[in-house]
Amino acid sequence: MIKRRKTKIVKIGNLKIGGDFPVLIQSMTNTPTSNIEKTVRQIKELERAGCEIIRVGVPDLKSAKALGKIKKKINIPLVADIHFSATLACEAMVQGVDKIRINPGNFPKAGLKEIVKLAKKRKIPIRIGINSGSLEKDILGKKEKVTSEMMIKSAMRNIKLMENLGFKDLVISLKAPDVLRTMKAYELLSNKIIYPLHLGITEAGGEFSGTVKSSIGIGSLLLKGIGDTIRVSLSADPAKEVKVGWEILKSLDLRQGGIKIVSCPTCARTGIKVIKIVKEIESVASHIKKPLKVAIMGCVVNGLGEGREADLAMVGTGPSLALFMKNGKIIERGRENDILQKLKGEIKKIPNL
Ligand code: SF4
Repeated sequence: MIKRRKTKIVKIGNLKIGGDFPVLIQSMTNTPTSNIEKTVRQIKELERAGCEIIRVGVPDLKSAKALGKIKKKINIPLVADIHFSATLACEAMVQGVDKIRINPGNFPKAGLKEIVKLAKKRKIPIRIGINSGSLEKDILGKKEKVTSEMMIKSAMRNIKLMENLGFKDLVISLKAPDVLRTMKAYELLSNKIIYPLHLGITEAGGEFSGTVKSSIGIGSLLLKGIGDTIRVSLSADPAKEVKVGWEILKSLDLRQGGIKIVSCPTCARTGIKVIKIVKEIESVASHIKKPLKVAIMGCVVNGLGEGREADLAMVGTGPSLALFMKNGKIIERGRENDILQKLKGEIKKIPNL
């Protein structure tokens, strides 16, 4: 079991992060925030996919003014992503968002006092989101490449600014688009502060490469007990980010829930269409919230062993032949298609709870 680093508890809407609270999954919409209908529709889709905190970009006043209406129509905490403007940050808070994220690299220091005053009054936490692509110019100096140490310098400076204003309801992130720089930054910072950390490899790339990169980066930090919320950043449908986020947390046993599939890669011994079956099972099991382990195995070599450890299993026993297991016991043997229907039927019976 991973021993998680204890951080300060921060309340985001009706959820808490830090302390012993579970690592939560965030994502971000890619609709124009000012288009309330489209944004709400996407947030609802992401909620269904398992997103627990949603962030929306606030590029202008029209978007900021839409936040109140969006918030009323969704069920998960709403975070406003603010760059450049204290006015937008204040409007977002007036609209009732649950958290704001500011980027110190482009946020006017003069505006901090104003937003802190309002955040304190409304009990809204602030994430200081450092990004290697937009570090403060005076820290970067004449250097071309941003180092982890520079990112930490920015974080510590901005934490101090907030603390000097009497504000400690903070969450910190230190994202870079590569694993090593990001990991070093988070590791060093986690020894210096008690605030919860939001993890992510920023601009990680497309669905495939970004998934690998994020899994290594976020996963390695989580393994060290670092991280209170995560966002997988992909140039893809945000629902995919949520899916990958869940897989990362489930594979580290940090969260349970939903289907966990154990399936073999197939080989010359494979008797059944494992790859196709796995896809079908994933789609019929998308409603499941409780933990359910399903094994889909091509033959009996490892199939019976994996089947014994799963809640439900389908194991190939010969060409187009299979057996069905439930709670570790063999229940039925038969043709591949009949066994598949049996497995699907069992999964469909599981309530959507
Ligand atoms: Fe091959 Fe059987 Fe292993 Fe699947 S379980 S990879 S079919 S040996």
